[in-house]
Amino acid sequence: MIVAGAGPAGSMAARLLAKRGARVLLLDKQRFPRDKPCGGGVTLRAAALLDIDLSPVIERTIHGARFTLRLGEAFDRRFEQPLTYMTQRSRLDAYLAEQAAAAGAEFRDGVAVREIDPAFNGTSSLKSTVRTDGDTYTAQILIGADGANGLVGRTLGLRPEYEEAVALEGNIPYTPDIPAEWRDVFGLDLGGMAGGYGWVFPKGDHLNIGVGAWKYAGFTLRPKLFELARRHGFPKSSIENLRGHHLPVRVPGSLIARGGVAVVGDAAGLVDPLSGEGIHMAFASGRLAAEEALRVLAGEAADMSGYETAVDRQLQTELTVSRRLQELFTFAPAPYLAIMRRSDKFWRFFCHLARGEITYLDFMRMIGPLRLAMDFFAGVAEKRRLGRVQSGLRLMAAAGR
Ligand SMILES: Cc1cc2nc3c(=O)[nH]c(=O)nc-3n(C[C@H](O)[C@H](O)[C@H](O)COP(=O)(O)OP(=O)(O)OC[C@H]3O[C@@H](n4cnc5c(N)ncnc54)[C@H](O)[C@@H]3O)c2cc1C
Repeated sequence: MIVAGAGPAGSMAARLLAKRGARVLLLDKQRFPRDKPCGGGVTLRAAALLDIDLSPVIERTIHGARFTLRLGEAFDRRFEQPLTYMTQRSRLDAYLAEQAAAAGAEFRDGVAVREIDPAFNGTSSLKSTVRTDGDTYTAQILIGADGANGLVGRTLGLRPEYEEAVALEGNIPYTPDIPAEWRDVFGLDLGGMAGGYGWVFPKGDHLNIGVGAWKYAGFTLRPKLFELARRHGFPKSSIENLRGHHLPVRVPGSLIARGGVAVVGDAAGLVDPLSGEGIHMAFASGRLAAEEALRVLAGEAADMSGYETAVDRQLQTELTVSRRLQELFTFAPAPYLAIMRRSDKFWRFFCHLARGEITYLDFMRMIGPLRLAMDFFAGVAEKRRLGRVQSGLRLMAAAGR
């Protein structure tokens, strides 16, 4: 088996496959430890999918949130149990790849997959050939875990259709004048970004600050990030290492497996639209791909198509509800935040969701017939957003971007 890409999705798949006795080659084009633009927030629901101890790479444990609406008045909410672990991707990903290697996967970093001959015929003689700058490898199963815009999906026509979001982030080193409360709460600013939000995530020796939005509003990210920093009293000049990246949101039903090949994580567009969280689904999809690959190896499945079915049944149903909620909350963030501030029940729902104790589908069940109103307003919000996308695209075209 070949796994291309050693982010959270690839290392998860490679580790599970190796643990179950499969011969696995895990390739990554970068030398590890390598960084990736990311807030590095690992929710409890994401961590719960791992059967390994993350504590060596956890820098902070978050118990609450500081909310603002469009950089206005702040209010804090706390929970008695952890909500999210704060990690740095350079350390987290190196650790996960090490764990895959410890389970028996052969990990080769600094080796880019350059070309692929896919295994598409859906018979028991499936074999994919993968060419790197040096060697050529052949395997029955190829898992593309090579991130947003990954080569595996692109080459094989598996690249899922997705709506694109973008995010920009940077780091602010801790200084004595940064208030101590920025240690176990994260900051979330809602309503100021088209389809996204702003965040402040505390790490071991710095704060990570960032903003995300739909791609059409990408040109607003930089000024919005500086406004967010100013709102919390951090000078623009204190932000280091500013960088951005895509956040792919899969269109339900788009192709993510074919023959002996499957794409996972960002390569499959499996980012949670409401939270912008991708590590949770990277772990979940890596696991589903590994399980299906083992079935193919055992002769219980002819190809990887069962993986796509499993994603559609187990993950996409959640992501689709999240997408509706995102549409609604970005359309009307004020009532959402007002409820978050006043209703313990609502705040606790948010906490239980982050902890993986309930799901978006549970939320839909909880609100009962109100879901009809929710669907109606989400539909209205979607129409308004599509109108804005058109005018955003016209503006970008006029500005020659
Ligand atoms: C600014 C920003 C902030 C974010 N914050 C959070 C957050 O706080 N929490 C969260 O859960 N999610 C967050 N996300 C989303 C999260 O970063 C991704 O969803 C997650 O990294 C997906 O993991 P992955 O394993 O699918 O892909 P990646 O982590 O992108 O890993 C892909 C790997 O493939 C390798 N690769 C690429 N091409 C090749 C090739 N040809 N050959 C070999 N290797 C290759 C790359 O080097 C990389 O190591 C954020 C995203 C952005 C942009």
